Amino acid sequence: MGEGQHEVTFGDGAHIVTNLLVGADGAWSKTKPLLSDAAPEYTGMSLVETYLYDSDARFLATAKVVGSGALFALQPGKGIQAHREVNATLHTYVMLTKSQSWFASIDFNDRAGAAACIAQQFACWSPNLTALITESDTELVWRTLFTLQVEHSWNRVPGVTLIGDAAHLSIPNGEGANLALYDGAELAIASRSDHLETALHEYELAMFQRSAREAAEGNEMH
Ligand SMILES: Cc1cc2nc3c(=O)[nH]c(=O)nc-3n(C[C@H](O)[C@H](O)[C@H](O)COP(=O)(O)OP(=O)(O)OC[C@H]3O[C@@H](n4cnc5c(N)ncnc54)[C@H](O)[C@@H]3O)c2cc1C
Repeated sequence: MGEGQHEVTFGDGAHIVTNLLVGADGAWSKTKPLLSDAAPEYTGMSLVETYLYDSDARFLATAKVVGSGALFALQPGKGIQAHREVNATLHTYVMLTKSQSWFASIDFNDRAGAAACIAQQFACWSPNLTALITESDTELVWRTLFTLQVEHSWNRVPGVTLIGDAAHLSIPNGEGANLALYDGAELAIASRSDHLETALHEYELAMFQRSAREAAEGNEMH
């Protein structure tokens, strides 16, 4: 293959050779190792996701506590973040600073048991808040938080680049999806350049700065 060309093999066995390989493949990117040895690290914190449906009719006190926007009930090492969605759905992320093995010991297929175990961490909290855990209408979903280092970057490698979480996996601060879309738009413009490698270099430099700013803010927020 020529300079800057990459061969991609798909799950169905098909192959392509491309002059521009874009890794848009998220946290566990298989493209990233072409550019960087950095591996995502566990932040020490995970989220557990729950939903309460039709809350105005079924859980009015909890619905009132969450209000019309978002609720953040936080203390060091733990917290409950909830926000209201359409049809009075309350969507919650319960945050806990616990090891992965602690979470792995919970049987998340047993909704009531898992809810009791997570709610136990908030034993002295108002039942109007813990209802967001114990009354979940869906299975509780454990979402680990992994990150790359705040200033993750690499030296230019011809013919390949990254966008989104593959490039800058960070603690969620509400900007991750925006950043991925922004990267994609900027890269689309760069890819039309007559001087592709120069344009990709400039794309990456701007992306490194943009994402490092947001990652630092996310760390500070958490
Ligand atoms: C719990 C949690 C809550 C979050 N909340 C928010 C929020 O409120 N707002 C916000 O902006 N961001 C939020 N984020 C961050 C946001 O989800 C990410 O930043 C965003 O999804 C990154 O988009 P992406 O396209 O780069 O990666 P992804 O969304 O991970 O997409 C990558 C895609 O590539 C696919 N893929 C991976 N490997 C391969 C392969 N080998 N072949 C084919 N396909 C592959 C994956 O299946 C996936 O569909 C949250 C993250 C977490 C963990």
